[in-house]
Amino acid sequence: MTPGSGDGRSTVAGLVAIASGRLLEAGSTSARLDAELLMGHALGIDRTGVIAHGASPVPAPAAAAFEGFVVRREAGEPVAYIRGTREFHGLALAADARALVPRPETEQLVDEAVAEIARRLTSSPRSPGAAPVRVVDVGTGTGAIAVAVVSALRRRRMDQAVHVTAVDISADALALAMENAVAHGVADRMAFHRGDLFDGLGDGAEALDGAGGARFDVVCANLPYVTTGAIAGLAKDLAFEPVLALDGGPDGLDVIRRLLDQLPSRLVPGGVALLEIGHDQGESILAACAQHVPGWPASVAADLAGLPRLARVERPVS
Ligand code: GLN
Repeated sequence: MTPGSGDGRSTVAGLVAIASGRLLEAGSTSARLDAELLMGHALGIDRTGVIAHGASPVPAPAAAAFEGFVVRREAGEPVAYIRGTREFHGLALAADARALVPRPETEQLVDEAVAEIARRLTSSPRSPGAAPVRVVDVGTGTGAIAVAVVSALRRRRMDQAVHVTAVDISADALALAMENAVAHGVADRMAFHRGDLFDGLGDGAEALDGAGGARFDVVCANLPYVTTGAIAGLAKDLAFEPVLALDGGPDGLDVIRRLLDQLPSRLVPGGVALLEIGHDQGESILAACAQHVPGWPASVAADLAGLPRLARVERPVS
């Protein structure tokens, strides 16, 4: 220990170690990561810097800011809300209490949507003036799915051939989604619509980029699917997130069933809906599809942990 460094506790690594113990105690399942991210936020550096500069002293103002962040995190506030940002599909998205924090499991839906759109763009020759592939993200929240899909297609030089409508019932969430679209430079390929599921879509000129009609080729939706019963016992984290984005009714599928009912008038023949589901809803979603869109092919894909996560339902061509 060098003279003047005290007992090492006021160094970056020292404060992170103390904080991660406190956060573990408070019930965080990612205590060290939380502490490192919050330290980075206090110092204005990234997590790599926090790890690389463990032996550096933390200036008093940053230490005070860090302490404030740790107290908030101890109370259960998501790290994403404290930092105001969350990494999703390689993008730094703005995140705050206006919408659910984007989850890593939702990245699978983005990948699937991008693959689906790319298939549509490459499966047959497209004439120069062809209508764009029309995509809708129902219940967009932070805009994570919509913004990540357009961003990924832009990297592949395919974004000019798509149009994505982002819908949310919450005006607050929609404002956040717009901020994210603008921040990532993809708002030119998007429209924003406030409404319940598909309600009001296409009634005005707002959503469809002059393409006419209110039907879509690809529907993406990470709707609320947590059961009302589970909401009460949710981890402290979720207490900070909008319950509107989580509560899916008694079996969690209330909102998704309402969406399924609207698909026949909202999906073009051959169109596909990709729906995020809970890890225990693999069988119930297939039953719901059989009941609400009978005869439509439906399947469920597992996530990296092998749990059901993504339902795919397709409107037959005829
Ligand atoms: N995956 C989220 C959670 O379990 C739920 C998201 C949702 O309801 N769409 O916290």
